[in-house]
Amino acid sequence: METNKLNFTVGPVMSSDLVLAIGNEQVPYFRTAEFSELMLECEALLKRFAGAEDNARSLFITGSGTASMEAAVMNVFTPKDKVLVVNGGSFGHRFVELCQIHEIPYSSIDLEFGESLTAKHLEAYENQGFTGFLINKHETSTGVHYDMQLVSDFCKRNGCFLVVDAISSFLADPFNMSELDAQVMITGSQKALACPPGISIMVLSAKAVARINNNNVKSMYFDLKDALKNGERGQTPFTPAVGIIRQIHARLKEIEANGGVDAEVARTAALAKDFRSKISSLPFELFTDSLSNAVTSLHPINASAHQIFLTLKDEYDIWICPNGGELKDSVFRVGHIGCLTPEDNTTLVDAMKDMQRRGLI
Ligand SMILES: *Cc1c(COP(=O)(O)O)cnc(C)c1O
Repeated sequence: METNKLNFTVGPVMSSDLVLAIGNEQVPYFRTAEFSELMLECEALLKRFAGAEDNARSLFITGSGTASMEAAVMNVFTPKDKVLVVNGGSFGHRFVELCQIHEIPYSSIDLEFGESLTAKHLEAYENQGFTGFLINKHETSTGVHYDMQLVSDFCKRNGCFLVVDAISSFLADPFNMSELDAQVMITGSQKALACPPGISIMVLSAKAVARINNNNVKSMYFDLKDALKNGERGQTPFTPAVGIIRQIHARLKEIEANGGVDAEVARTAALAKDFRSKISSLPFELFTDSLSNAVTSLHPINASAHQIFLTLKDEYDIWICPNGGELKDSVFRVGHIGCLTPEDNTTLVDAMKDMQRRGLI
């Protein structure tokens, strides 16, 4: 299988040379003071980059982003809660399914694909006794980036415990847990962290930690009480994906050395802007007017989105991100996360222009 294509998907994405080099090393034994120190350093950097309060905690779950979404729902909510879920695509739908599976009472705000969340959508849910709120800050499946201030204000007014899936937007768009009064933030190793898939991360406020410790979760792997306890000394109850954690550590240190989270968000924003300006003459429409820096979702006017994905893959050695389901032929996405440059954007746009010349788009 070829792996050396230019990758504009939304995960796994391209890794830096530093991260790749670690992937080439032996995986070390981890019940050591050295590995604990590395874990604690990761925790501190993640908390800082997420704008979390000092007494917040970070947990590393060996499992993709969905594992942390499920762990969050199981550990911070109970059947006594009443949770509002924003369902604007396949990731919002995943939270709906998780509430169903774990018998958490919920209502969902069902948006059209590509539709952004407005104050009007929330009106009907004011003062209705909601205790929790689940949202994917960036609904990666459609590219819609939600207005978190709106959500935060609603949660503050209504006393809702806010859980944010920031899996694809952490490090790509501004986010501050403390300012938003968000209690849980979730991200994953293969999105803007630009590492291999396999680890997801939860940043938990002190209130979230208290909920976890008071909850009675029927699971061995996903009951987070032990993970919190072990984490105090930089360890995990079970063997973590040690190699990926070492890569995450290197990547976090790299971001810190390059100016921290604000610089990384600015770099990603500039890359997204560069791409969007370079495609202005191509026959594509933006699928939403509320975009994240992480992704541009596009509707091709004259061609099948899926065929564009296939042609770029097979004839130009470039991966863009196809859509599934109803949007398969009408929408494709171009990611701006991972180790990409403006020159890479030019390579992609040149390929698209060549396809236009050939009458393919
Ligand atoms: C990628 C992603 C996920 C998690 O997907 P996994 O395949 O489980 O890693 C969840 N939510 C959003 C918004 C995502 O972009």
